[in-house]
Amino acid sequence: APDKEHGSPSAASAAPPQEQRSPDELARLAETAGRELEDAPALEVLRWAAGTFGRRFCVTSSMEDAVVAHLASRVFPGVSVVFLDTGYHFPETIGTRDAVEAVMDVEVITLTPRQTVAQQDAEYGPRLHDRDPNLCCALRKVQPLEEGLRTYDAWATGLRRDESPTRARTPVVGWDERRKKVKVSPIARWTQQDVDSYIAEHGVLTNPLLSDGYTSVGCAPCTRRVLAGEDARAGRWAGLDKTECGLH
Ligand code: SF4
Repeated sequence: APDKEHGSPSAASAAPPQEQRSPDELARLAETAGRELEDAPALEVLRWAAGTFGRRFCVTSSMEDAVVAHLASRVFPGVSVVFLDTGYHFPETIGTRDAVEAVMDVEVITLTPRQTVAQQDAEYGPRLHDRDPNLCCALRKVQPLEEGLRTYDAWATGLRRDESPTRARTPVVGWDERRKKVKVSPIARWTQQDVDSYIAEHGVLTNPLLSDGYTSVGCAPCTRRVLAGEDARAGRWAGLDKTECGLH
């Protein structure tokens, strides 16, 4: 298993600070921690984030699996897990969100876009995702996350270097210049095999679509199953010149 360390609730970083820091201070923290934690196990990275930022730290999850939420809850019970409900998710994804909320020691926070799908269709025409996926992602993902992250100084993602060439240089702790926040990717160095072992060892909740030919799960209209030999994210926006939604 990739991470044998066992967190305990007392490691929940006794009385994590709630203080607000300036962007300069946050950037410096990100730089120092980025150097010091580059080779650290995921739990240690998360323990640092929870201890440093307290409630101003959250995990974001696409509900493809609950690996990072699970790791974070071990060192920070009740940690905020932010989920973006674009209105276009597979029912399985919403079901995974509900299951995570029901069984894990986390607080799930669901963010929604300003417009419902119907309102967006009325303003931009139906199936904007087929015609202008960048705009659709901007309205349904980037903007709500921007707003939802305002009360946090640091956020954790499940980004991994082996997912796709665009993610090969993901830092474990980095600086999100656009949002002026510390961005933590505790499993950046994990392989797919590391993820699979962690899921098996800890019985972590996963999206049922992962056992149905999908290796990366996004919005239903923009996700297909992957074929043998394709990288894990090849099923996202297949056929379009787009590989990322703009969140990262
Ligand atoms: Fe829209 Fe597709 Fe982006 Fe979802 S992934 S927000 S449906 S373009």
